[in-house]
Amino acid sequence: MPELPEVEGVVRDLRPIVEGKTIAQVALSETVFTSHDAGKQTIVKNNEPHQFERLIQQMTIIELKRRSKYIFFQLEKDGETFHLINHLGMTGAWFVVNDITEITEDKFRKHIHAVFTLTTGELLVFSDIRRFGELRFIKEIEEHPPLLKMAPEPFDEDACDFFITQSEKPKYRNKPIKEVIMDGQVISGCGNIYATESLFKMNIHPGRKTNRISRERKQQLFQVICDVLQESINSGGSTISDYRSINGGAGTMQHRLKMYGKKQCLTCDTTTKSIVIAGRTSTYCPKCQR
Ligand SMILES: [Zn+2]
Repeated sequence: MPELPEVEGVVRDLRPIVEGKTIAQVALSETVFTSHDAGKQTIVKNNEPHQFERLIQQMTIIELKRRSKYIFFQLEKDGETFHLINHLGMTGAWFVVNDITEITEDKFRKHIHAVFTLTTGELLVFSDIRRFGELRFIKEIEEHPPLLKMAPEPFDEDACDFFITQSEKPKYRNKPIKEVIMDGQVISGCGNIYATESLFKMNIHPGRKTNRISRERKQQLFQVICDVLQESINSGGSTISDYRSINGGAGTMQHRLKMYGKKQCLTCDTTTKSIVIAGRTSTYCPKCQR
């Protein structure tokens, strides 16, 4: 699942191509319509699909930014501003092409769910194989309350203090540290890959209870998380399974990972172990991580 660095990579790639451009029309996939008609969840949230297509027509993308693991398209029409908020889910990917056939990987081309035709003739395409992604069109951020509960950006000055304060709350203090650092209301944008890496660097067992870690160690852990996220941003993110940067581009952080997906500890050669925490497989070294 794309985490902060991968989403940042998508935004950096997409921004120079789409900012300032106007959406002539929007076409959603047949799957979106049939799922909606059957009363099932679709990638288009809080709007009826036809309404979604209609509303976004003729809007100009004035700004593209990332917040946590979300992509915010700031849109404008007749002097009014709106937000199109996108979450990549497990396998969401954006492409900008002149023709759909330019998307060369079959699995992405076969799972296109939204095509935004720009007035330049380019196609801004959202493909999502497993359909856990989201497209949410809203006027005000307040319309989707979870967005207001997001932790600060990890690189913001107040983010470490926020993490410490949250981690000491009754809701979190007895939970495994890995679950806590992956919670978007505690730290923004740190998912399974970077939580695994950071805990390994700190020699902390992923299942250790949060209140069994000193404040000083938590501060160090927070700094390590920021360093790992920054290293990954610099490497273009990790390309694992069906995640792609725009137009099928790939990052190289997966070659720099020290624990995620490893069979043996790179420090001591011990066979790694796995436990499930908050529904996610957590790999760790039973000797190095306590
Ligand atoms: Zn080890």
